[in-house]
Amino acid sequence: MRLKSSLMAASLLALTATTTAFAQTPAPVRQSTPFTLATDQPRTPEQLAVTFDKADLTIRVIPADKAIDAVAVLDFTATAPVSALVVELDTILTISSVQVDGVEVPAGTWTNPEGRLTVPLATPLVAGGKASLRIAYAGKPRVAPRAPWNGGFVWSTAPTGEPWIATAVQGEGCDLFWPCIDHPLAEPGRVDLHIVVPSDLSAPSNGRFLGKVDNGDGTTTWNWSAASPNTYAIALNIGPYEELTAQYESRFGNRFPMSYWYLKSDAPADAQRLFAEFAPMLDFFEATIGPYPFGDEKMGVVETPHLGMEHQTINAYGNAYKLDGRGFDWLLQHEFSHEWFGNQLTNTNADDMWLHEGLGSYMQPLYDRWLNGDRYMQFNLAEQRKGVANRFPIVTGTLKTENEVYDDDIGPGLDIYNKGSLIAHSLRMLIGDRAFFQSIRRLVYDRPDPRPGNFRPHYASTADFLAIVNDETGKDLNWFFHGYLYQAALPDLRQTRDGDRLSLEWVTGDGTAFPMPVEVEIDGRRQVVPMRDNRGSVRVADGAHVLIDPDNKVLRRLDFIEAYRTWEQTQTTRARGGATGRNADVTPEVPAAAD
Ligand SMILES: [Zn+2]
Repeated sequence: MRLKSSLMAASLLALTATTTAFAQTPAPVRQSTPFTLATDQPRTPEQLAVTFDKADLTIRVIPADKAIDAVAVLDFTATAPVSALVVELDTILTISSVQVDGVEVPAGTWTNPEGRLTVPLATPLVAGGKASLRIAYAGKPRVAPRAPWNGGFVWSTAPTGEPWIATAVQGEGCDLFWPCIDHPLAEPGRVDLHIVVPSDLSAPSNGRFLGKVDNGDGTTTWNWSAASPNTYAIALNIGPYEELTAQYESRFGNRFPMSYWYLKSDAPADAQRLFAEFAPMLDFFEATIGPYPFGDEKMGVVETPHLGMEHQTINAYGNAYKLDGRGFDWLLQHEFSHEWFGNQLTNTNADDMWLHEGLGSYMQPLYDRWLNGDRYMQFNLAEQRKGVANRFPIVTGTLKTENEVYDDDIGPGLDIYNKGSLIAHSLRMLIGDRAFFQSIRRLVYDRPDPRPGNFRPHYASTADFLAIVNDETGKDLNWFFHGYLYQAALPDLRQTRDGDRLSLEWVTGDGTAFPMPVEVEIDGRRQVVPMRDNRGSVRVADGAHVLIDPDNKVLRRLDFIEAYRTWEQTQTTRARGGATGRNADVTPEVPAAAD
C-alpha cells in the first residue's frame, strides 16, 4: 500500500530538482506521469473490445545502469470491431520499435503522450480477429521511493556485494515496466517471461520454470510461464540466491513444488526454518479454504529487500526471519493468503479490496488457532481491534482507484485489513463455521466443490459475497453487510438499566436495521438476547454483574478502545515534537502489516 505516497514523491522531486540545478549538463528529469502512477483506471473502448491472450516479455536487466532493455509481444483477440490497440507503458521508458503482426508501425503513427500507448491498426479487427503487438523499449524504470507502499524497482545490494533487485508495483500497476492494460479485469491469459541477468545471479519469477539458458556473454536467461497472473503480480526478483525446494503432497491428491529463494548470505538455519513453515501453512489453507490455486505451477517465495507483496506463485518475503512468539511468520502467512484472496479471487474493483486484505488478514488469527489454540487467535484479534479507525466506510458501492482505498486520508486505509478481518470474524460467529467457510469457498472458487483442475482464477465483488452468504444461510444478511461495510461508524450497543431490566439498542451509522443478537452473561449465566427492531431487553437482579458479549463475537463500538486510540495519537504527536495533523510523513498506524 502507498500511504503518503504523494508527499514522498513531492520531496523526491524537490531533491532531484536541487541536484539537477548544480549539475554541469542538466539531464532532463523524467518522471512517471500521474496517469502512469495511478492504477485501476477506466479502460478505453479499444481495451474493452479485446481479450488479452498472452504477453511474452523478454527483459534484460542491467544492474550497473539501473536500466532495462526489453521486448514485449502482446497477443489480443477482438471481441468487437476495433481499429487500434491500446496499452499502458510508462513514458520514462523509450520505445524504439512498435510492430503489429510483424509489420513496423512508423513512429509518429503511434502515440504515448502520458503513458497510454495507442497503436492504430492498418486493418481494423473484426470480432474474433487476432493481432500481435510487439514493443521494443528500454530505459531506467521508476525507482520505488518506498517499496512496497510507493512502488517501482528496488535496486539494492546483497550483504555479499552482488546486486539484489526486486519490483513491487501494486499501487502503480504493471505499466511501470511492461506494456499492459493496467486494470484488474485485464489479466492476460498467460505471461511468458524471459529474464536476462548477469550469470552469477538468479531470477526466480512467476509460474512454472521452463529452464535457463547461458547466453555465453556473461548473462543467463531465466524462462518462466504463468497462467492468468494478476496484473501487478508479475515481478522481477534478481539476486545471489540459493534455493530450497521440495514436493508438496496435497490433501487433494495432487503434488507440486515448493521453492524458497533466499540470499546465500542468510544463516542456513533461518532459511530452513522458514521453508519448514511452507507445508503446514499450505495444509491449513487447503483444509480451511480449498485447493492451492496454482498447483500446476508452484508455491514460490523469494527473499526481497522490501517487506512483502503477494506476487502470484513468487511471494515477496522481506521480514528478516523475525520471531514474535506466535509460532509462525505472519508476513509469510499474510502474503500467502493472497494466493486465495487476491490472485485466485480478484476483486472487480478496488472498492472491494477488503475481500483481499480483510479476508486475507483474517487468515492470520485463524492460523493462530489452527496451530496454537484460542488464546493466540483472540490475542491477534484484540491487536487488530486496536487498529480500527472507522473514518471511512470500507466499501462505498462506487468505483474507486486503489489509492482512494489504501490512502487513509481519503479512504478506509488500514480498516480494509483490521476491520475487514474483525467483520469476517463476526460473520463467522453469527452464521457458524459451515455456512461461513462454504460461503468463503464459493467466493474464492466460484463453485462449492473445488478440486485441482476444476476452477480458474475469477472475479467477484462484495455484492457477490452477500448473495453467496444469503444463499448459504437462507437468510437476508444485507443488514450485516450494510451495517459494517458501507458506513464508517461501528454499530453501537446502547445499554440502559431501569429497575431489574437491562435494555439494549443497536444504533448504526445511518440508523438502519441491525438485528444482531447479543449474548449476555449475568452473574455467570449466559443467554442470547434477540434484537428485533434493533432492541432487546433482559431481567437483571439487583447488584448482578453483567458482561456483554463474553466471547467477543460481535464487532461494535467500544469506549475503552476509542479512549486508547485518542491517547495513542496524543503520544505520537508528542513524540514528533508537537507536529500536528495526519500529514506528518510517517503515519503511526502504518503497521508492519501493510502490503
Ligand atoms: Zn495484503
